[in-house]
Amino acid sequence: METKLLRGEQERDLQEAARLLRAGETVAFPTETVYGLGANALDADAARKIYAAKGRPSDNPLIVHIYDRAQLEMLTDQISETAEKLMDAFWPGPLTIIFHRRPGAVPDCVTGGLDTVAVRMPNHPVALRLLRMADLPIAAPSANLSGKPSPTAVSHVEHDLSGRIAAIVSGGSCAVGVESTVLDVSGNAPVILRPGGITREQLEAVTSEPVIYATPHGSTVETPRAPGMKYTHYAPEAPVYICTGTPEEIAEKIDHRLEVHKGRAGVMLSRQTLRLLQNADENLVVNLGSRDDLKQIACNLFAALRYFDDSDVEAIYTEDFPAEHIGVALMNRLDKAAGSKKI
Ligand code: AMP
Ligand code: MG
Repeated sequence: METKLLRGEQERDLQEAARLLRAGETVAFPTETVYGLGANALDADAARKIYAAKGRPSDNPLIVHIYDRAQLEMLTDQISETAEKLMDAFWPGPLTIIFHRRPGAVPDCVTGGLDTVAVRMPNHPVALRLLRMADLPIAAPSANLSGKPSPTAVSHVEHDLSGRIAAIVSGGSCAVGVESTVLDVSGNAPVILRPGGITREQLEAVTSEPVIYATPHGSTVETPRAPGMKYTHYAPEAPVYICTGTPEEIAEKIDHRLEVHKGRAGVMLSRQTLRLLQNADENLVVNLGSRDDLKQIACNLFAALRYFDDSDVEAIYTEDFPAEHIGVALMNRLDKAAGSKKI
């Protein structure tokens, strides 16, 4: 299949992307979190093309993207007061809400057969314009091959999916750079199934009741409630190791590892920790940003993981960050990339 490259700032290109979506094809497009791979959420055949292109396990449900609250009525007939408040506060934005699914509203393959449906309104002008033109709820997981780091630039999508999907809409780099927070409000207390772009503290400021994590901070223990969380995620080709301790201890450990690997190791670290390294080869170093700005570090993480796939490093070393606020999402992704390997 030839994959068309369409420009998100061109009206005519967006019209073509909308036409393809309406014709049951798959189209990747930018959002503020990561690039998504979209297809008509009401059409089982279209949604199945997403799983095929990504190599995604069929029991890992998709997030349905909408541009307008009126579209939500199609998907669910149960909108709680808490959900209303959260949508008012965070939509459009990086919050996915799990609702009871309106019977028969979306095909089973979109929800992995669950009686709930995950919905989000993305905060990106190109995504919103495209969703409005297509005028359909669009199922869209991250636009990467299953198991690879999520794409935060159009080049990442091309690398993984060229030849496998109908089109890619360009739209610059993603401003948030980690996926949405997935929040289940279908039970009693709101539960974070996946930490993401909106923090627990931000949610609690709106719900005025405690919001709980389905799994402990940074843990990769699986929750059956977010089926996708059990699969390998964010894995670059080389193994990733998270170094713990003070910045000085981390730098010492990494300097030692660099000697052992005779330079064939990559490091991705905060600016502060990088400064303490003695042995690093500039070409195999990624500066993730300041430790004082975990948002920036989270935003740079996926591109950093992909950077090393173009080199022949044997291992990638990184550091532990505080699992607080956006750091919870950051450490969740990093832990999965590392398969929890710590030194
Ligand atoms: P992705 O779109 O690749 O970022 O992954 C979507 C995430 O949302 C996965 O972790 C899914 O398991 C989760 N998800 C989607 N739909 C549901 C649902 N109905 N209930 C619980 N989790 C869901
Ligand atoms: Mg994904």
